[in-house]
Amino acid sequence: MSRSTAKQSLPNLARSLKAVEKLSVNNAASQQTCKHVTQTFKYIIVVDFEATCWPKETQKWKKYEIIEFPAVLLNLETGKIEAEFRQHVMPVENPRLSEFCTELTGIRQEQVDAGVPLNTCLLLFGKWLQKVLAERNLSLPKTNPYDQTGSVAFATWSDWDLGACLSKECARKRIAKPACFDLWIDVKAIYMQFYQRRPESFANALTNLDIVFEGRQHCGLDDSRNIARLIMRMCKDGANFVITKDLKPFNVFRGK
Ligand code: AMP
Ligand code: MG
Ligand code: MG
Repeated sequence: MSRSTAKQSLPNLARSLKAVEKLSVNNAASQQTCKHVTQTFKYIIVVDFEATCWPKETQKWKKYEIIEFPAVLLNLETGKIEAEFRQHVMPVENPRLSEFCTELTGIRQEQVDAGVPLNTCLLLFGKWLQKVLAERNLSLPKTNPYDQTGSVAFATWSDWDLGACLSKECARKRIAKPACFDLWIDVKAIYMQFYQRRPESFANALTNLDIVFEGRQHCGLDDSRNIARLIMRMCKDGANFVITKDLKPFNVFRGK
């Protein structure tokens, strides 16, 4: 999909997914006044991968491999994170972390040495996902023939995590990428459209709204939790979260 097509398709996609549902966001977890926005999804699963990296001069010769795979399940009605997943992943193409990488992400060599390969991580994540969805009777978009819109969707900051990092690594390693990662909400795209502002970074996006980052920047789990906090703030400001990227837009139903 070209860039311009992707941009144009956002409202169309939202319409075709019947993004008109149903849930009034009234966040008891927050003291702020909340606009009553009809949210498309009841829940959002935020993911934010950390990957092997090097200083700029050498990065281009090396491929990203995921080293931290976190996810948080955010209830848009209450603003609460109800479940979390976190797994360190063992890089195999470049098994030694650079000092630069450890400094940036806080992830140490022994943590990835004790991690699992990416395909195992995807299996563990799949189990966690099934469990948290079943417990709440939730479905992802295009997985339930009676509810194509679904009640929960993935969200990331920018398209990098699911559009580049995971897709490319799975392709290189001949790992079948789970279909659930084919469509997602890019919180950055919604942010830019809603506030009409292009933030330089995620940290900058928070600062612009006077939100102080909690935890450690570039720790995948902390990044995910802070993206969830940003989503809740944006909900209160009146933004609706719809799917912004679908790698297989013509697949109407994907089954489980
Ligand atoms: P983030 O979610 O912003 O923590 O970034 C995800 C991944 O992108 C990191 O784990 C790194 O692999 C890479 N990355 C982020 N920022 C930088 C940077 N300043 N220099 C090199 N790589 C980076
Ligand atoms: Mg990130
Ligand atoms: Mg991160």
